[in-house]
Parts: sequence; structure tokens; C-alpha cells
Amino acid sequence: MPEKPDQIAIDVRHVTKVFGFGPDKVHALKDVSVAIRENEFFTLLGPSGCGKTTLLRLIAGFDFPTDGEILLHGQDIAPLPPYKRPVNTVFQSYALFPHLTVAQNIAFGLEMLGRPRAEIDARVSQMLTLVRMEELRNRSTAQISGGQQQRVALARALAPQPKVLLLDEPLSALDFKLRKEMQIELKRLQHETGITFIFVTHDQEEALTMSDRIAVMSAGNILQVGSPKDIYDRPAVRFVADFIGETNFLEAAMVSSTKDRASVRLGSGAVIDASVPKGFSPSGKVTVVIRPEHARLADDGGELSGRLANIVYFGTDTHFHVDLDGGGSFIVRQQNTRDESRRAQEGDKVSIVVGTGAAQVLRD
Ligand code: ATP
Repeated sequence: MPEKPDQIAIDVRHVTKVFGFGPDKVHALKDVSVAIRENEFFTLLGPSGCGKTTLLRLIAGFDFPTDGEILLHGQDIAPLPPYKRPVNTVFQSYALFPHLTVAQNIAFGLEMLGRPRAEIDARVSQMLTLVRMEELRNRSTAQISGGQQQRVALARALAPQPKVLLLDEPLSALDFKLRKEMQIELKRLQHETGITFIFVTHDQEEALTMSDRIAVMSAGNILQVGSPKDIYDRPAVRFVADFIGETNFLEAAMVSSTKDRASVRLGSGAVIDASVPKGFSPSGKVTVVIRPEHARLADDGGELSGRLANIVYFGTDTHFHVDLDGGGSFIVRQQNTRDESRRAQEGDKVSIVVGTGAAQVLRD
């Protein structure tokens, strides 16, 4: 569906960023285009070095594109220095001023903008309530915990009411439990303020649980943009399928296809139905992807067969590693129930039933 221009907050158009010269040249971004909507929690997800921070820095104005343009609500922001952009950044390191109190840190940006004292005081109080830090307003930021520092950094960045908040791996310094709490907190803050959040992470689970939409990046390219469900259930390319959770890849041959569906023949001879990524016309040999939880074990009658090589118990579910007849392996993930009447054993011959709508043909 084409985006309506008035709903787009940040429009990145054909942006390329090259660092260095000659043999040291690095193409950090390669003709990247993406439209980020107003009021959405948008995540840039990808492995280290794929260009996530570079894209954030270009939006913030800390650096300039080599080519292409970035529009904010339809206006080219190239002429605006960072402090004139209605965009703020929360860094991984928080970058708080340790000699200032919590309240003074939050007031800092507003003071730089020369806002009247009464307005600053009111806004600081509002921000302290928003991040639930009222009681610590006069504490030095050198004397608060990592999670509290994170809240202050968020309050400081939100205080001048930016249109867009950029968050560069803001949770990576926190321990597991606090990180989970702050994930919920960040979602709440985005929802309550209605500000567009552009969040950078290399953690796929964090991206899936928090985002309205995700852009998966690799080596300076955006490979796919979609809702967490689209990205997980319908990965368009192998990298996305592999990066987002555990999965099964099977070689197959095309039998027939329509616009978005295909019939493919698996190595076992079984013909299954598969969906096809938008704009892709597969032919000949293809790769299909099937998530482990979209298949189940049976005694017979499934599309694939093999021998159980390994059973791994995870509490809520169990992973069954199957060596397929004819070569290759396949993982089936099944939820554990209290029904203990039928227990598969390593070495058993098993059949695998592929769920309806489970398979997806990958683009190269
Ligand atoms: P990480 O998760 O490790 O922060 P990232 O996805 O944010 O990685 P970037 O920091 O955007 O990746 O870097 C993208 C590429 O550009 C990398 O190869 C990096 O080494 C290179 N790069 C980034 N900044 C510079 C710079 N100032 N000079 C030269 N190369 C740079």
C-alpha cells in the first residue's frame, strides 16, 4: 500500500553513505530508501556494522549523506544543523552530566533553547512523572542506578518535545531483567507521547516484541521492512529468515505458481503449497523456509520423513532434530503438554506434517 505523504515522519530517499577514500572506502549505506510513519515504533535491526548507527546519525544531522536525501514531514532537512532539527537522540552510554541533578539534566536541553523558567520547571516535573522519577529529582545522576540513568536520559531527550526520537541500542548496558522492564517502559512512553521512535538494535527478540515495524539491514542495505509478524512469518530473503529466529531451509522445485502462491515439490517428492514474496516470480529450483513451530511430528502421513536425531527440552516446548530421509535436517518445535502418553525417543522413525500456509519461497 503506498504511503500517504502526510503520514510520513521521516522519508529516507536513495541515501548512500561512503566513508574514506580509495582502497579504504567503506559503503556504510547503499542506496537506502525507507518511509517511517508518524507515531510509530520503528526499529532498525541488523548485525554489527550493517549501517544502523550511520543511518541514525544522518537523520540526527551528525553526519551528511554522500548521496540521496532525508525529508522530515516532506521538508529536506539537509540545511538544518542537528540542534535545529526536531529530532533528539538517546545514546547507549546515556551521556548524562554527572555533576548535575536528575532535574537539572532534564532541564538542560530546554535551557539551551532559552525557554522561560516557568515553562522549564513545569516541563521537568511533567517528564519526571512520565518516567516515574519524581522522588529522585534532586539526586546527582552519579548516584542513581543504570536503569534510573536510562529513564533520565529518556526524559531529557523527550523534554523539548521532539517530533522524532532516535534510540541507539539504549538498553544494551542493562542486565536482562531491567532490560525487559525498560522494553515495556519504552513502549509505554512511545504510546503516551505519540512521538515517532526510531530504535536501533541487533537483538531480534527485542525488535519483535517492541516494534510496530522493523527494517532488517545487512551490509548497508535494507532487505525487508514489515510488521514483526510479516518479518517472522514471511521472511523474503534467506538472511532475514536466518537472522530472525531458528528456521528450516529446504531445497524444492517449482511446480506451478500464481501471483503470491506456489506449489513446490520437496526432495521427499511431496508437493506443498507455499507463499511467494511480493514482486517475485520464482522458477526452477527454489529454497523454501518453514518455521520449526509450523510443523509437527506424526507417526506417518506427513510430507517429510526421517529419524529423530536429538530431542532438546526447553520447559515450555521441545525441539526435535530430525535427520531427513534423502539428506538434510529439520527442526520441529512442539509445545509441551501434560499428556505424556506418547513420547518420541531419539532414533525413532518419524513423519513430519507441514502446517497449511507454513512454507514460504525465498527470494535470492
Ligand atoms: P554496531 O551495531 O556495531 O554499532 P552498525 O550497524 O551501527 O554497527 P555502523 O556504525 O553504521 O554500523 O557502521 C557501518 C559501517 O561503516 C561499518 O563498516 C563501519 O566500520 C563503517 N563506519 C562507520 N563510521 C565510520 C567512520 N566515521 N569512518 C569510517 N568508517 C565508518
